[in-house]
Parts: sequence; C-alpha cells; structure tokens
Amino acid sequence: MTEPMSVDKPLPEPGTTAIVVGGGMAGLVAARELAHAGVSVTVIEASAHIGGAVAPHEVGGLVLDAGAESYATRTPVFARLAEALGLGEQLVEPSAAGAWLHFLDGRGQPKSTPLPKGALLGIPGSLDEPVLREILGRTGLLRAKLDVNLPRGVGAKARSLADLVRARMGQAVLDRLVAPVVGGVYSVSPEDLDPEEAIPGLRAAIAEHGSLSAAIAALRGKATKPGSAVGGLRGGVFQIARALRTELEELGVTLLLDTSVQTLKRTGTAWHVGTPAAQLEAQRVVVATEAHGAVELLAPLLDEASAFGEAFGAEISLVTLVVDLPELDAAPRGTGVLVAPQVSAAHPTAEGQVVRAKALTHATAKWPWLADEEGPGTHVLRLSYALPLVGGAETADGGQPSLELALADASALLGLTIRAEDVVDSDVLTWRSALSAAGLGQKAKIAALRAAVEQIDGLAVTGAWLAGNGMAAVIADAQAQAQRIL
Ligand SMILES: Cc1cc2nc3c(=O)[nH]c(=O)nc-3n(C[C@H](O)[C@H](O)[C@H](O)COP(=O)(O)OP(=O)(O)OC[C@H]3O[C@@H](n4cnc5c(N)ncnc54)[C@H](O)[C@@H]3O)c2cc1C
Repeated sequence: MTEPMSVDKPLPEPGTTAIVVGGGMAGLVAARELAHAGVSVTVIEASAHIGGAVAPHEVGGLVLDAGAESYATRTPVFARLAEALGLGEQLVEPSAAGAWLHFLDGRGQPKSTPLPKGALLGIPGSLDEPVLREILGRTGLLRAKLDVNLPRGVGAKARSLADLVRARMGQAVLDRLVAPVVGGVYSVSPEDLDPEEAIPGLRAAIAEHGSLSAAIAALRGKATKPGSAVGGLRGGVFQIARALRTELEELGVTLLLDTSVQTLKRTGTAWHVGTPAAQLEAQRVVVATEAHGAVELLAPLLDEASAFGEAFGAEISLVTLVVDLPELDAAPRGTGVLVAPQVSAAHPTAEGQVVRAKALTHATAKWPWLADEEGPGTHVLRLSYALPLVGGAETADGGQPSLELALADASALLGLTIRAEDVVDSDVLTWRSALSAAGLGQKAKIAALRAAVEQIDGLAVTGAWLAGNGMAAVIADAQAQAQRIL
C-alpha cells in the first residue's frame, strides 16, 4: 500500500490525540494522515453517513453517485489516493464523446452543438474551431478573433473572469461558452469569479503569449494528462469515501456519526469539542466542515472567520432519472449538455418549452462501465437546477423541480421525447455547493484566515470552501493541513 504524505516526517509524541470535525472527504483524508502518523483520532460527523458530498444513492435498483461523480485529472492526487486505498484497478476514463452546449442564437432561438474542444472553463484555446461559427454567429466570431490582435494589456486588470473574457473576446463568448461551463460546473457566475483563482497562471500566460486564446492553448498544453480533464471510478466515486472509512477503522480511528459539534474551545494545551451529549478533549483539532459550520465554530476564536459572513454556497437540486429508452443508446448529445444561463432566463417561446436545468449529464453515455452494467436500452440521466428555480411555482414541486419539468427539460436537451411511462425510477436531491474559493474577494479572506489559524497551536482548518471546490483540491489541502499540525 502507498503510504500517506507523513512517511518521511518525524512522528508526533506517542499518545497524541486529535479530533476531526466533519466526515466529508476533507475530514476523512485529514484523519488518515494523522492516524498513519500514530495519532489517536476521533472523527465526528453530524449526519448518519460519512463522505459528505461524496456519497451513493439508489435509484431504480442502481447504486449511483449522489453528489460528486468524477475527479479532476489535472493533478495525480485523487488517483494516488485511490491506488493507496486499493481502488487503482477501478480508475476509469469517461467516454471521449464530449459534452454539448444548449444556447440561444443571435435571433433568440434555442440551439444545441458539441462544445468546442481545447477550451478551459469554456474559453476557447483556438478560434479556428468550426463549431464556433455556429455558436457565436458571424459577428460574435469576428469579435472573438479580435483577441489575437488586441494589445496584450487589454483585460490585464479585469476584476472578474467575465470582465476579462468580455474585454478580449466579447459578450457572445461570455454568454454562450463561458457562463454555461462555469455555471454548470461551479454553480457560480463568471461575474463573481476571480480570473487568477479560477485559472491559475492565466494573467502571466496572456502576458507571455499575447492573447487569451493563446494563453488557454498554452495552459491546456501544460495539463499533466492530455484528453479528458476528468476521470472516475468503476462503480462510482463514492467508493473512495467507503474505502477511507474501512482504512480508518483498521487504523483504530473512532467514528462518531449523528453527532454535531457545537462548540470549540482551547484551554492550556487541550482542545474542548462540545457535542450535545458530551465534551470531548484532544491535543489537536481539525475543522473540516463546509463553510457555514466552520465559520460558526471558529468565529469565537478568530476574528478572521467572521469576515466570511453567512458563508453559504449556492443551493442546487439534482434530479436523477433512470429511463428505458433505446433511442438514447446513440448518445444523441454526447456525455451531456451544459445550458447557457440566458436560456432559462428567457420567456416561454411559441414552441412552449423553456429549459430551466443548468446542466444534464447522460451518465450511461459518459461512463462506459455504467452502460455495460445496465445493458442497452436503460439510461441514467442527471439534471441539475439552481435553486430557487427560475420560473417559480409553476415549475416546482415543494420548491424542488417537478418530474414533469425534468422530463420536459431532458426531452428538449436530448432532442427526443421522454414520457413518464419511460421512467423506471427517479430521485431528487438537494445539495449546497461549497462557497467558491475562487469567488471575488475570497482569496484575501482565505489567506487572512489561514495565517490566523497557523498562530493557534494544534488547530487546522480545511475543506472545499478554502481549498477550492472539487475532490482533487480538497484531498491535497486536507493532507497538507493535517501535516502542518503533526
Ligand atoms: C452535487 C455535487 C456534485 C459535485 N460533483 C463533483 C465532481 O463531479 N467532481 C469533484 O471533484 N467534485 C465535485 N463536487 C465537489 C466535491 O464533492 C466537494 O468539493 C468535496 O466533496 C467537499 O468535501 P468537504 O469534506 O470539504 O465537504 P463536505 O463534503 O461538505 O463535508 C463536510 C462534512 O462536515 C459535516 N459537518 C458539518 N457541520 C458539522 C458539525 N458541526 N459537526 C460535525 N460534522 C459537521 C457535514 O455533515 C459533512 O459530512 C460536487 C459537489 C456537489 C455538492
């Protein structure tokens, strides 16, 4: 088995104890680092399940990923951990078919095309891709191509990713390419994203290569792995949380489920962790909850935590449909469809349907292992919605998207009719996405919080709201923060 990061480091004193608050990926990975270093660890998790947003659900007899379903291959972090946990043989790549885009053309008509290849967050690395003419229209493409001739300083001081793209490539690239990808993947608007946090090295690459498209091409070229930017696990990525739990139990880690930590205090060299049933004590503590819970626990200890305010991320609803529909065997829209925000903001047209979903994943087209498991004819579709729903009550079922809405959206996005009688089973889940660490102004707050945390003996804070959303970033940060307090 591959050892965790701690292998060459001096070990802490025998008998050292630690409490990890939160049993999502961040907490489980931090607990693993500490336990491998010989620390006696207790993980306290508020819900009945470990894994947080990395969790399974059962729909139509299938065990599927309920939250995260892929990992970024930009770094080897996830694959290394999976291998260390004995899941190396389950690492898989998605189908090469790629995703599609659903947008409104220059006349306001809905259209679907494959997403251009070689882009980062929807920003094209080449403006010669033929599909760009269809997506941007003639004028939009001409404006985008100005990027190559504009002085390299244009957009250099842009505050947001949206300002940068608008300045160099124009509004059509922003609305029809960047906003759907950023919204579908990160649940935020490019207006609220810090360009350098969203794409590290972007400003320097523009200065070096002279244009935004050349900078994107160069940054894509630097990726550790060509081709698809994500990978998965045969059987679902939720297995990594289960494997972590198994290993933690083997290492003697105590897991307390259904237990919410309410207070955190320090006296002398001890941390006191308050739960409804008991006060627990340890020499080290790792706060690994999502933003809101962490801010509540840390605010009495650190003024810097209060700077995050209410600290809630966006709420999203995921509708999973298992359907019997052989027409979907041909994967008519590749691995899925990202929807430009202008589509759901539009008023109903004479044709009737306005798509409210922000993305659709055709899971059986994206993951060959899932298609093999199911056999031809049966398909898994996952639609995501930003809450509250655009369009209000008529589209909602108790605040959630209704099954009728999901069927209508899936039909419009896949270009065929899916009827209620085609549905084998369905499920609706609500998640809160992490506060975006790449959001405007977040970088300075995160740096101030991290600096303040480092001044407090035996305290570590980790999780997607600080590390950046996505398992790869979360794992790397949890390892580093746990190492810091060893
Ligand atoms: C719907 C969805 C889809 C996603 N898809 C992908 C994807 O495809 N690829 C990818 O890489 N990433 C994806 N992500 C992001 C990824 O899942 C997260 O970045 C990562 O799992 C966050 O881990 P975490 O441990 O920081 O937080 P969480 O998973 O939120 O875990 C925090 C844990 O802390 C617990 N907790 C909170 N307060 C307390 C308390 N007071 N006491 C005790 N416990 C507490 C919570 O119950 C929870 O279990 C997705 C996220 C969502 C929501």
